[in-house]
Amino acid sequence: MPELPELAAFSAYVKTHCLHKTITDVTTSDSKVIHGALSAFKKGLIGKQFSHTERMGKYLVIDLPDDKKLAMHFGLTGSLVYTKNDAESVRFSVVQFIFKDGSVLHWTSIRKFGKLWLLGSLQEDKFLKKLGPDALKISLAEFLSAAEKNKSKNCKAFLMDQAIIAGIGNEYSDEILFQAGIDPHHAMKDLSKNTLTILYKEMHTVLTYACTVRIKSIKKNKENFSMEKDRDAFKASYLQAHRHVDMVCPKNKNHKLKKSTIAGRTSYYCPEDQI
Ligand SMILES: [Zn+2]
Repeated sequence: MPELPELAAFSAYVKTHCLHKTITDVTTSDSKVIHGALSAFKKGLIGKQFSHTERMGKYLVIDLPDDKKLAMHFGLTGSLVYTKNDAESVRFSVVQFIFKDGSVLHWTSIRKFGKLWLLGSLQEDKFLKKLGPDALKISLAEFLSAAEKNKSKNCKAFLMDQAIIAGIGNEYSDEILFQAGIDPHHAMKDLSKNTLTILYKEMHTVLTYACTVRIKSIKKNKENFSMEKDRDAFKASYLQAHRHVDMVCPKNKNHKLKKSTIAGRTSYYCPEDQI
């Protein structure tokens, strides 16, 4: 599932290709991914231009004129593909934003679990208003205070709870805990203030680095941009390149990674290094 770094890449991608171009049509092969009536959705977009975009947790929010916004969530398998003309076919394209110059932004999805909708205000939107502070913007003091309020919560569940911190899902919570050397089975109350500070710093380091990797990837490989196909773009010391693949610990090749269900998700960790 696309997480904060992939959303940062989607945002950069839209900024590079799609701003300030008039939308002449919006088409879809499956209107169930659009919240509300398709006719209202089209009416809100046709003749308008995208003026700005930003990532909010795992959502992409694109500004339209008159303080309206277009929000996108990518579900498990969503992505964006931009083509210079509408004759180019794009695999799994579900929604197409067609611009006046003939170029197209495709919202793609294999399993169609994501959604798109128009909104007026971020504060009133039923999905966006539930988000906690962004994982790259939360301060250490806020992080420690959230940890205190969620003492009994498992540490991986804590990182993935969008109402506490927005942007982290299954894969990056594993990566952050691996880099911090923390066993993902711990509850928050098991972690000392010093360990929580390490966790906070690694959250920042991992996500910042992953954003640069993903932004580079989407520029280079737009048709095939996906987490699965691009694992080896990460440096060798990252878990990303080894989960699902060889199960070798990136810190010590004599360690074998372990896979188990933690916080309801299939998790990977090193039982030797994560204590
Ligand atoms: Zn290890």
